Amino acid sequence: ADDRAARAARLESLGQLASGVAHDFNNLLGIILNCAEFVADDTGDEAADDLTRIRNAAHQAQELTSQLLLFAKREPTQVETVDLNTVVTDATDLLSRTIGSDITLNCHPGSEALPVRANRSRLDQILLNLVINARDAMPGGGAVEIATGTVEISGDPDQSLPAGHYAQLTVSDNGTGMNAEVKDRLFEPFFTTKAADKGTGLGLATVYGIVGDAGGTITVDSTLDVGTTFRILLPMSSSPPPEPTPEHRTRSSPDA
Ligand code: ADP
Repeated sequence: ADDRAARAARLESLGQLASGVAHDFNNLLGIILNCAEFVADDTGDEAADDLTRIRNAAHQAQELTSQLLLFAKREPTQVETVDLNTVVTDATDLLSRTIGSDITLNCHPGSEALPVRANRSRLDQILLNLVINARDAMPGGGAVEIATGTVEISGDPDQSLPAGHYAQLTVSDNGTGMNAEVKDRLFEPFFTTKAADKGTGLGLATVYGIVGDAGGTITVDSTLDVGTTFRILLPMSSSPPPEPTPEHRTRSSPDA
């Protein structure tokens, strides 16, 4: 549990770092743009001075982004075969605590084992991000449904995934939903509709990266004032997952 708290804290500090970096970066871009505008009308020495300022600001901006990238690059990730159902059921307690008591979290793990090749803490990170977003979309309270199952993808050329067996994870809320513009941009780094101290716009960009690294896809289905469902497909691994403990077999949501 300590491990998870540490991970949650890490995500939180990444968020704080990112908004700090975005702020500083913006200031530096302001300097660059200003000087670039002046440079056109400058003569001789003035132009050289402005170009030096531009170069210095650009250097600082480069430092900032490499700092952010270093931090965001998680420790070399160990890929293992994990059961997606186990990951979801194990995370439920922490997720419930994270979203508070106004929101109900229901977990519906499928009955089949769902072995996927992935890094466990990255899967936790996905759940945490999606559930926090669901919470933020339901200021008046509501319910989050997490479900898992299997999906068969055929060799349809329209599909962005190769044919095969996939494990499916859905996270649904009955919150505000999104308009078309937000739906278009939500995976962009730093895209956020939240207040500056609330959102960094890095959550879904991170999720997108993790899912892509694991060979999967993420899609969203959202209706304004109705709610949102995120759907993740991950290739099912052929080797069996570690035997689930009896606890994992029997623990399920009240209505499952
Ligand atoms: P952040 O949460 O920091 O804003 P994200 O990348 O996680 O960054 O999300 C980007 C944006 O996508 C959010 O600001 C919000 O507008 C929208 N969004 C994400 N999840 C949901 C959701 N479940 N319901 C409604 N809007 C959402």
